[in-house]
Amino acid sequence: MERLQKVMAEAGVASRRKSEKMIQEGHVKVNGQLVTELGVKVTAKDLVVVDGVPLSRQRLEYYLLNKPRGVVSTAHDDKDRRTVVDILADDEITTRIYPVGRLDYDTTGLLLLTNDGELANKLTHPKYEVEKTYVAKVKGQVTNDDLKQLRLGVMVDGRKTKSAKAKITATDAKKGTTIVQLTIHEGRNHQVKKMLKAVGHEVLKLHRESYGFLTLAGVPAGQWRRLKTSEVMQLK
Ligand code: URA
Repeated sequence: MERLQKVMAEAGVASRRKSEKMIQEGHVKVNGQLVTELGVKVTAKDLVVVDGVPLSRQRLEYYLLNKPRGVVSTAHDDKDRRTVVDILADDEITTRIYPVGRLDYDTTGLLLLTNDGELANKLTHPKYEVEKTYVAKVKGQVTNDDLKQLRLGVMVDGRKTKSAKAKITATDAKKGTTIVQLTIHEGRNHQVKKMLKAVGHEVLKLHRESYGFLTLAGVPAGQWRRLKTSEVMQLK
């Protein structure tokens, strides 16, 4: 038995709070009966209908993908490019899953996919923003002053970024490039590229190596694995 608003949130209808409001406002029926009181619990056998649309009660699934370059982090692409969901579909994963946040077309690395709307909302909400570590190959020699600025925050789209961790892991003086490891808690659009641009360095390659406690250990580029139940519980 689970609370109606929790079931709605997990199915991706809306957040738990918003789902409560939808119940109170008379949008939800259970087994044909209008429910406007909070506190109702349902099982998998109950038919939940929101605004006339039956809720699909699929099993919740969670995947960790090592995204390769040249795929889009959406479920569908207007330009018909290959998506991260297509990669799993090749292996007969046909549940309606979608990525948690985004990685750019040319960015590689750790991306979660799920059909758990509630967890996806939580993980991408600024309040809960998970720690994400990126490795960037950038043009030019990154200085200690650049690192300091990255750590303290730089202006991106008119707003200062939150404190971050930044360190140099390698330099190639001949090629004039630097490898920087950057750990951020936010998930703004093209954030890492923009942060490095703000200190004068163009990103040539970008890879996400970890997402919270999750890493890519044992998952080569283009491959994926299911999350363990214990990992899902830790994320929740
Ligand atoms: N920051 C970026 O600039 N791009 C990504 O893909 C992820 C973070």
